[in-house]
Amino acid sequence: MIYATNLEGSPYRHIFEINSAFEDVATSFTREFCSLLGLSAESPLYIAVTAGSIALPRLIKYTTYMKEKKTEWTTENELAFETPLPQSMVYHPIFVCPVSKEQTTEQNPAMMLPCGHVVCRDSLHKIAKGSRYKCPYCPTEGHLRDAMKITL
Ligand SMILES: [Zn+2]
Repeated sequence: MIYATNLEGSPYRHIFEINSAFEDVATSFTREFCSLLGLSAESPLYIAVTAGSIALPRLIKYTTYMKEKKTEWTTENELAFETPLPQSMVYHPIFVCPVSKEQTTEQNPAMMLPCGHVVCRDSLHKIAKGSRYKCPYCPTEGHLRDAMKITL
């Protein structure tokens, strides 16, 4: 209030500079909005490059190992290993059932079969005959009761 008539002479004049204040408010709103949606406020390109950099050493190790064993990567569009990312880089996890091509919900959750393959509950019940199923991705057969619900 002392500098109300002389903002130019105030040591706090940067607070009243319109461009800076607007950018601060815009950044704050963006962060809050993204936070509410469970999304990152960072640029998607930055996140993708950073996650790729974290995964790169494992990828190199894996491809070197596979080359030595003369084995090929057979799973299309999917890494054959987990890449642990920091919690700050984990957002809004979703799972799309590879059988029904639909996103899982609380009513139709992802179910992991004992072989490690995951499908949604509805798909699992559709492929089941009675209480038994055959995994749509490998020769494994099993009981519906052995499938585990996955919480995302
Ligand atoms: Zn399977």
